[in-house]
Amino acid sequence: MKLILEKEKCIGCGSCQVLCPKYFELEKDGKAHLKNSKVNPDTKNEELEIEETDCVEETVRVCPVRCIHLR
Ligand code: SF4
Repeated sequence: MKLILEKEKCIGCGSCQVLCPKYFELEKDGKAHLKNSKVNPDTKNEELEIEETDCVEETVRVCPVRCIHLR
C-alpha cells in the first residue's frame, strides 16, 4: 500500500506524530514529514510504500485536514 501525505494542507497539529511516530514526525517548518518518503514531482506529496498499516489507519481518521491517505 502507498501512504501519502499532502504536505501543503498540513496545519502541524502533531497528531500523526503522537499516534504513529514510526512513520511521521514534525519538521522545523511546523509541518508533518513522512519518514523515508519520496516527494512525488507531479503532486509534491510525500509518498511511501508500506506493508504494515498498523498505526497509519488511525492517523488517516484523526488528521483534522484529511491530508493523510492510504491507497
Ligand atoms: S495529523 Fe494531519 S494536520 Fe496534523 S500534523 Fe499530521 S498531517 Fe499535519
